[in-house]
Amino acid sequence: RTVYVNGSYLPEEEATVSVFDRGFLFADGVYEVTSVLDGQLIDFDGHAKRLERSLGELDMDSPVSMDELRDIHRELVRRNDLREGGVYLQITRGAADRDFLFPEGAEPTIVLFTQAMNLTNSPKAEKGLKVISIPDIRWGRRDIKTVQLLAPSLGKMEAKKAGCDDAWMIEDGFVTEGTSNNAYIVKGGTIITRDLSNAILHGITRAAVLRFAREAQMKVEERSFTIDEAKDADEAFITSATTFVTPVVEIDGQQIGEGVPGTVAKRLREIYLEESRKLAD
Ligand code: PLP
Repeated sequence: RTVYVNGSYLPEEEATVSVFDRGFLFADGVYEVTSVLDGQLIDFDGHAKRLERSLGELDMDSPVSMDELRDIHRELVRRNDLREGGVYLQITRGAADRDFLFPEGAEPTIVLFTQAMNLTNSPKAEKGLKVISIPDIRWGRRDIKTVQLLAPSLGKMEAKKAGCDDAWMIEDGFVTEGTSNNAYIVKGGTIITRDLSNAILHGITRAAVLRFAREAQMKVEERSFTIDEAKDADEAFITSATTFVTPVVEIDGQQIGEGVPGTVAKRLREIYLEESRKLAD
């Protein structure tokens, strides 16, 4: 695989980052994952906008413009002959002597790599996911897409040990989101998902899916919901750049609806794939 590090395209074995990098020492960095379908980037503009916001919230600079970043994404997809999968991008504050205070004049580190994945023919999307609920132990600025992912990683391990696919996180009695995706339920035809705040990541797929749902005259409510309300819903599903819309059929061992992927989730997945392909570049 060819990866991109600080201005160079290199074989992955030759790519290096300093042991003093603040991404490594402090998780002082942000990232994005943009999906690739038919060799094209899905909603790069959305990811670039969120990246700029994440960087701004952490008072961090991007070493490249968003136009240059798009070109780097495209070039890496081309060099790796990627047809379907994702491009991972990470920007950290750079390398400096270890100190909690931000260093002055450190050069940000930028890394990109591609990952081939089967996104459209996903057995998980066909069958639906089983999730468990766990306490949300993450920090209070989940709207910033930082690389500190230990809590979600622990959550996914717990789900795996329970024989499940993923976990939904609970704070103050309400579902925040999935470990790496936004969470939704459907009740009486209405799509319900948590409103935007610092408590959740502002999903790029979420924004697109809600827009497509409203355009298709589906009812959408952006509000908090409890895990009990979710267990009592007609349907449940998640969204993210690499899972698109994926149904959830079981929560904490309790079947949702008929225990099979719901009609709203299936329809939204189809609409998303069709519409996002039109916007691909
Ligand atoms: N929520 C969390 C915690 C995530 O990590 C992600 C994606 O990685 C999402 C939601 C979904 O965001 P997006 O649709 O932009 O991939």
